[in-house]
Amino acid sequence: MAKLIKEADIIEIKKTGSNKPSKRIITFSRNVFIPLTNACRNRCHYCGFRSDNPSLMEPNEVENLLLIAKNASEALFTFGEKPETDSKIRNSLLEMGYKSFLDYVIEMNKRAIELGKLPHTNAGILSYSELKKLKPWNASMGLMLEQAVELPCHNESPGKKPMERIKVITNAGKLEIPFTTGILVGIGERFDDDLYSIEVIKDLHLNYDHIQECIIQNFSPKKGTPMEDFPPPSIGRMIKIVREARKILPRDVEVQIPPNLVEDIRPFLKEGVGDIGGISDVTIDHINPEAPWPSIEKIERCLNGEFVLRERLPVYPKYIKRGWYGSMTEALIKKLSDNEGYRKGCRKPL
Ligand code: SF4
Repeated sequence: MAKLIKEADIIEIKKTGSNKPSKRIITFSRNVFIPLTNACRNRCHYCGFRSDNPSLMEPNEVENLLLIAKNASEALFTFGEKPETDSKIRNSLLEMGYKSFLDYVIEMNKRAIELGKLPHTNAGILSYSELKKLKPWNASMGLMLEQAVELPCHNESPGKKPMERIKVITNAGKLEIPFTTGILVGIGERFDDDLYSIEVIKDLHLNYDHIQECIIQNFSPKKGTPMEDFPPPSIGRMIKIVREARKILPRDVEVQIPPNLVEDIRPFLKEGVGDIGGISDVTIDHINPEAPWPSIEKIERCLNGEFVLRERLPVYPKYIKRGWYGSMTEALIKKLSDNEGYRKGCRKPL
């Protein structure tokens, strides 16, 4: 009797182009982390990134980072939300000759493209027209949903109102922007809230087909913050959420975990994680500076021959084929991608 082909087998056949199931592919991207400013209008109780005395990176500092990141294909622009609400940042922008923070971000995106890196911008809450203005200069963009429920740790963070964030992710869908989102686990929510938040992400994707990956990120306490003594979620809880996320989300939304925030990625891969996000060999994770990136060699040792590691660009193959990336990134995407939509020159699965 013929063997029934399971859904998971079909995904593997699609991914490898072979007619028999093979090892699952785990993807990652090589990035350079560019924290443009630590100014932020929000005050999340777990945040160790924002500052009351913020600074703004000078264009030449940004260029230097882009130049030293020789292996990276992705320029990850991350910063606090609505930084121009801080007068020090407004003055710095004026001194540098920019009319708005958005103009400054676009200029930094342009420089990244000129230096061979594809921008992926995490800009916090933006309006439809602001997203539209940024889109041409970005291969993809992102905004963590974090949680679709209101929590005490966000009492001083207007930008963390779930509806505000859902609106941005919806507008990104309307604009056909390949999008990264996810949840932050262990910030005072219940297990059911985690599942509900993942359901919300699923619905957004079913409506607009634009979510390329859903990050399941564990809260990690930071010294000097109101939540410094708050216990981080256990590995058991994280594994359970990843397992449920894989069941809830459509198969074309990859489940991602940050490999620098868990001791061992293997149990997560076994539960369906298919992507480990951006890794840098020149910059730290500025949001979790205490957690260094593992080397590619260490990750390959963890995979133990059971999975195949493959490098992607900040935009997933599906959206490259569809042409949903920003128009100004097209030439670079064509230069950097192979005919399957992964990074050109990266190892193929065995
Ligand atoms: S976590 Fe993000 S949004 Fe919240 S205060 Fe920090 S920088 Fe701002």
